[in-house]
Amino acid sequence: MSGSLYLVATPIGNLEDITLRAVRVLREADLVAAEDTRKSAQLLNHLGVKKPLLSYYQHNQKKRDAQILPLLQAGKNVALISDAGTPAISDPGGELVTQAIQAGITVIAVPGPSALLAALVTSGLDAGRFCFEGFLPRTKSARRKALAALAEEPRTMIFYEAPHRILQALEDMREFFGERRLSVGRELTKRFEETLRGTAEELITHFRAHEPRGEFVIVAAGAPQKAFFAPDDGVLSDELRELLQNGLARREAARLLGEKYGLPGKKIYALGLPKEE
Ligand code: SAM
Repeated sequence: MSGSLYLVATPIGNLEDITLRAVRVLREADLVAAEDTRKSAQLLNHLGVKKPLLSYYQHNQKKRDAQILPLLQAGKNVALISDAGTPAISDPGGELVTQAIQAGITVIAVPGPSALLAALVTSGLDAGRFCFEGFLPRTKSARRKALAALAEEPRTMIFYEAPHRILQALEDMREFFGERRLSVGRELTKRFEETLRGTAEELITHFRAHEPRGEFVIVAAGAPQKAFFAPDDGVLSDELRELLQNGLARREAARLLGEKYGLPGKKIYALGLPKEE
């Protein structure tokens, strides 16, 4: 009988975010494969789990896959963990899963934290349909190309980003996503956790004043669905007036109508205002 490959999610910051099942699976596994054995040894120590650790990271995964698969086939249970969060999500593990499946080995998830879901559910953006884009390419031209391809994506989009690239990413998003709402989750579950929400422009202003530090997830609203018929200016003015009477700021009201009809917020903002000379 083959053993099973367990993909065990571990905390993304707060050490309390580990499930009872994760602790049991780690305790019962014959072997724990870990991205950074030193870091994971600290976690296992904290959990009171004593277990041999095998390093499993980007540059030795091929070699390790060839060692781990025979162990699984020989009936050993292997738990795979990454530095933080869910293995195989922008972390090593995907290839081992594919090979294990091909070899007829049972693959079992032990779900838990993942930065992308924590950022999505606190963003205030539509969590009904979303896509995860991982890290954007590092070079400007490749990043702009990737964002251009996403400009019409209707689902909420989630990106991982390094602190030293967050401003560049937001600048490129300003170009392709315009005035859409974004949310940036920083240091989620940790001491200095915060979620900043606004347009790309507003977030750029924030991060120019506050140097980006820590770990970041950017969540971006999807492209507004274009209305089948764009209403004429009279209808738009009426709707704008109604929103203003309900207490919305002109800017917010214009943005909402822009999203509703797939029209530029600036055009709607100007409706009913005296024309500039
Ligand atoms: N496997 C992990 C998961 O399930 O979330 C992701 C690993 S990926 C190498 C690391 C990236 O995830 C970071 O650069 C950051 O974008 C995001 N991340 C991880 N922990 C985070 C946290 N506590 N707060 C915000 N972002 C985090």
